[in-house]
Amino acid sequence: QVTDTRAREGPISPSYDWFQTDSLITIIIYTKQKDMNLDSVIVDYQDDSFRAETIIQDYSYLIHMELFREIQEDFSVRVVANVGKIEIVLKKKEHTSWKCLGRALENHNSFTPRKDTALYYRKCQLISKEDVTHDTKLFCLMLPPSSYLQVPIGQHVYLKLTIAGTEIVKPYTPVSHSLLFKLMEPVLPNDKYIYFLIKIYPAGLFTPELDHLQIGDFVSVSSPEGNFKISQFQELEDLFLLAAGTGFTPMVKILNYALTNIPSLRKVKLMFFNKTEDDIIWRSQLENLAFKDKRCEVEFVLSAPTSGWNGKQGHISPALLSEFLKRSSDKSKVLICICGPTPFTEQGIRLLHDLNFSKDEIHSFTA
Ligand code: FAD
Ligand code: NAD
Repeated sequence: QVTDTRAREGPISPSYDWFQTDSLITIIIYTKQKDMNLDSVIVDYQDDSFRAETIIQDYSYLIHMELFREIQEDFSVRVVANVGKIEIVLKKKEHTSWKCLGRALENHNSFTPRKDTALYYRKCQLISKEDVTHDTKLFCLMLPPSSYLQVPIGQHVYLKLTIAGTEIVKPYTPVSHSLLFKLMEPVLPNDKYIYFLIKIYPAGLFTPELDHLQIGDFVSVSSPEGNFKISQFQELEDLFLLAAGTGFTPMVKILNYALTNIPSLRKVKLMFFNKTEDDIIWRSQLENLAFKDKRCEVEFVLSAPTSGWNGKQGHISPALLSEFLKRSSDKSKVLICICGPTPFTEQGIRLLHDLNFSKDEIHSFTA
């Protein structure tokens, strides 16, 4: 007898079950994985379609149904992490018994590599818009009440607007609403509001339109994407962040998370490259953070400073990096995150390899 010993690729497919009381429907997803978080689940109920997407490694498990009867807008999501169980509790609109959960829609009960799944969008409302620098603004968007979504650290979403009859889509990286979180308190998940720091380019295609939106207007927001993994922080001792311009955005949640959730962390250093002082996003918040937390250091480097600037100058270079990237001890576990304009990131990666940092020690944020 010939046995096929080839391992099936990817994780085991989840399954689901459901039960009901007079007023509630509970859907249970058995992920068969232990490391599930609240940001592994995305739930949307819109236009009569109910979708619950569970992200397991690079795969997506989808429940997609037209429900048997209507439900109320708000629902709750709970993860029982140690057994990998996800519970979604829906509230029935009418207290009647359901004969079935509903009718299967496209790709219901499928388990697919994420790269093969289309992005799903929900309409979010613009809640506020605040100036941060002369050209960069902090936008706050609110998810609809019938959506549940948390963007994981290091991931981005796509924003979609219809401009002159054409749908335009661009990627943006959500940030925390500020850097002035209370140190040593875990960052609380805020699942209703999503914040973005966005630079408006007057000659750009998308950002001027975004800037013209009124409070209360809608923007479509996709499900998250990106390959940063929180496991890269395990046992981390030295974290170096190299950011240029709005390439600072992924560093915001990373800073917040690292300073509150990594017990092994000794040092976090940010080197922030900008053209002029006026371009530095959240400068005083960064200086405040470095003042309050001794593990944290911030260095600004300007490529087009005015004559009064007595800090570091120039573009990313071997001299700047070799001085900046000092390990706290010879064998300390290091992670270097880099993000900015493509030539900046590409050059930075080359320089980091020249300085003998390994691939595993570098995470670059790109499209
Ligand atoms: P574009 O139309 O793309 O133009 C940008 C600039 O280039 C303008 O000054 C324009 O005049 C100039 N330009 C355009 N075409 C040409 C050309 N052919 N020749 C010369 N110049 C040209 N940005 C943020 O602000 N915040 C974020 O959090 C953020 N996150 C991102 C995450 C990812 C993964 C990626 C890939 C990008 C991210 N960006 C972010 C950048 C963002 O996606 C857009 O590229 C940016 O907002 C510009 O979009 P736009 O359509 O307004 O400008
Ligand atoms: P900018 O033009 O204001 O430049 C900021 C700094 O980047 C400059 O001071 C310089 O030090 C450096 N820089 C610029 N061009 C360079 C070059 N050719 N070579 C070496 N260094 C260079 O930057 P911006 O307008 O804020 O643009 C930020 C960029 O970051 C955008 O291209 C955006 O798409 C990208 N971004 C990417 C992600 C991601 O991939 N996840 C997230 C956010 C932003």
